[in-house]
Amino acid sequence: MPKTLLTKIGTLVSGDIDDPILRADAILIEDGKIAAVGSAGELGTAGVTLTIDCGGTTVTPGLIDSHCHVVLGDYTPRQKQSGFLESEVHGGVTTFISAGEVHLPGRPKDPAGTKALAILAAKSFNNFRPGGGKVVGGAVILEKGLTADDFEELAREGVRTVGEIGLGSVKDPADAAPMVKWARACGMTVMMHAGGTSIPGSSTVTADMVLQTDPDIVCHINGGPTAMAVDEVGKLIGGSDYAIEIVHCGNPKVAVEAAVLAIEHKALHRVIIGNDAPSGTGVVPLGVLRVVCHLASLTAIGADQAICMATGNTARVHKLERGLIAPGKEADLVIMDAPMGSVGADALSAIKAGDVPGVGMVLVDGAIVVNKSRNTPPPVTMPKVVS
Ligand SMILES: [Zn+2]
Repeated sequence: MPKTLLTKIGTLVSGDIDDPILRADAILIEDGKIAAVGSAGELGTAGVTLTIDCGGTTVTPGLIDSHCHVVLGDYTPRQKQSGFLESEVHGGVTTFISAGEVHLPGRPKDPAGTKALAILAAKSFNNFRPGGGKVVGGAVILEKGLTADDFEELAREGVRTVGEIGLGSVKDPADAAPMVKWARACGMTVMMHAGGTSIPGSSTVTADMVLQTDPDIVCHINGGPTAMAVDEVGKLIGGSDYAIEIVHCGNPKVAVEAAVLAIEHKALHRVIIGNDAPSGTGVVPLGVLRVVCHLASLTAIGADQAICMATGNTARVHKLERGLIAPGKEADLVIMDAPMGSVGADALSAIKAGDVPGVGMVLVDGAIVVNKSRNTPPPVTMPKVVS
């Protein structure tokens, strides 16, 4: 029964955008889950096998990349790179959500093939944690001919997500909407591409097409990479209750405009953050942290709120038992501080100033998977394992 205690936490970001900062300086972890949150005095040290002194730095839930184009293993055929997932864990990401294994060379486009790919990806990533990170793999790409029975089989075999609608042969809302209903009836979460055409064979998707299809998530509302017009963005934020995804590999101007619209429509609890890599833009290990910095530094969104968008908001949409600092949740955590030389005095003020924070440590299910990031700048203060 491993028991881990984090002490001397300076700032604790909850992941809950309605209450982003917790007044507590210690977290007790038991068997990979958060057992208690409070003051070190309250939690005690009985039975603790590992103590981590956070040195007054900031602890947040592990970041969730809401949009990752994995295929199989820690390799992307799109950019011919291996280790891209492990590299992103060094950017504080502890969960990756597949948006569709679309980059498989020779990807099958028949119902049996698209089902087989999704089931294989879901099952293989269940058994594989690149760099310690968790991958929700196997996002079925909608192809013509899929039936209600197919969605039942997919869900039974562990597929939790419908990949971006618009990537496969099902593009017309009249074809997609019934499949969305079948998928949702099986408990699956439905993602939909929005904006300009991403890669040859995919399609341009307008706000009306999204509304007629009725997904759970509007992918990359700021473009993947080509953005829709801002009035279309406003139509989706104001005219639906869908989750609104802002990604790194999109249009940075529309990211800011979408964030401002989300503030106006009191929709910050619906904003989630993704990388949309690997893509034509490349492999971006710090993509999620960079979007957190963009939104917090260029809009009125707080650094703590932006972190909640990349953690608790995404976990809620995908029904994951993580992304929040609360008893019972999986102990996926990031310990971060201002990077050396930043004008920010701590992680949150550095983010507000636009600086990527320094990641000192990453834990997944309570186990240390990164001890000083090799990809972020070094933090001013490093956490210390004291026993
Ligand atoms: Zn897309």
